[in-house]
Amino acid sequence: MVGIGYDIHRLGDGLPLKIGGIQIPSDRGAIAHSDGDVLLHALCDALLGAAALGDIGEWFPDTDARWKGADSTELLAIVLQKIRASHFQIVNIDATIILEKPKLAAYKEHIRENLASLCKLPKERVSVKATTNEKLDSLGRAEAIAALVICQLEKISS
Ligand code: MG
Repeated sequence: MVGIGYDIHRLGDGLPLKIGGIQIPSDRGAIAHSDGDVLLHALCDALLGAAALGDIGEWFPDTDARWKGADSTELLAIVLQKIRASHFQIVNIDATIILEKPKLAAYKEHIRENLASLCKLPKERVSVKATTNEKLDSLGRAEAIAALVICQLEKISS
């Protein structure tokens, strides 16, 4: 089973920038109800999508005060529980982060290792890529950060 996830958040001055659970040095960060970690949000949606379990907005509505300022690693942990409860395990994850600045080359491996750790996967099954939007549109004007994630799940034989 394959799932796809996408997320985008606006960037604002003086906010923390979290990507894949890692704090990235930056003078701008995501404006969000939670911690605005687009990569973890897109990953949650990809996992939920592959298991046909709805989407992140259904499980963690931004109208619910419980999720205000939420650490997205906690949301991912809940999603992983749902996946396992449906007798799925992750085969692999492939992610793309779209961000104009800062450049993520120095942080990609750390993000990858953290995603693998959070999902309890060997890092060979986790891919993290980064790209800019070639100065085009909101992403290219550094007004936003986005992430795309695809993942494959397999049924655990019982
Ligand atoms: Mg989000």
